[in-house]
Amino acid sequence: MKKSVTISELSDLNETFVSTFSGKDIPGKAGKGLLILTCMDSRIIPHEIFGLKIGDVKVIRNAGGQLNPEVENDIVLASYLLNCERIVIMPHTKCAMASLPLVDVRNTLADLSKKDFSNFTPRMIDDAQEKLKSDVNSLKNNALLKEGVEVHGAIYDVDTGKVNWID
Ligand SMILES: [Zn+2]
Repeated sequence: MKKSVTISELSDLNETFVSTFSGKDIPGKAGKGLLILTCMDSRIIPHEIFGLKIGDVKVIRNAGGQLNPEVENDIVLASYLLNCERIVIMPHTKCAMASLPLVDVRNTLADLSKKDFSNFTPRMIDDAQEKLKSDVNSLKNNALLKEGVEVHGAIYDVDTGKVNWID
C-alpha cells in the first residue's frame, strides 16, 4: 500500500506553489458565477474537468456529492452573497456511497474497528440517478434560493472524464 503523504512533504510542495503564486487580490466571489456540489472522491478534480482556474468557482464536497440541509444553506448563502447563479450537483460513477447498503457499511466498520457502529448513519445512496434528480428538484424548490438561479444535475464518469447532464 502506498504511504500517506507527510506534513513535511506537503510543506515542501506548498513552497513550490507559493513560489509561482499569482492569486493575490482575486475576489472571493465566484468569477464564473458557478457553484459545484460534488463528491470527495479523489478522482474528481472540478477545476480540471471544466477548465476552470483560481477565482472561478465555488466547490462544495462531501461523501457522494449530496444535498443535505447544511449544504443547502451554504448554497442559498452563495446564491446571494458569492455570485453563484448556476449550481451544478455532480455525483459520479463508481461512487462508494452508492455501492453498499447501510447495514453492510456498519458491519464492515464494526469489523475493522471493533467499535459499535449500530447508530452510525452516513448518507448511503440507493439509486444514484433518482437521488440526483431528487436533489436537483429539492434545491430548485428551495423557496429561499435567489430568484433566477439555475440548478443542474450531472454525473461525472470517472473512467472517461465525461460529464453527463441529466438536467
Ligand atoms: Zn463518491
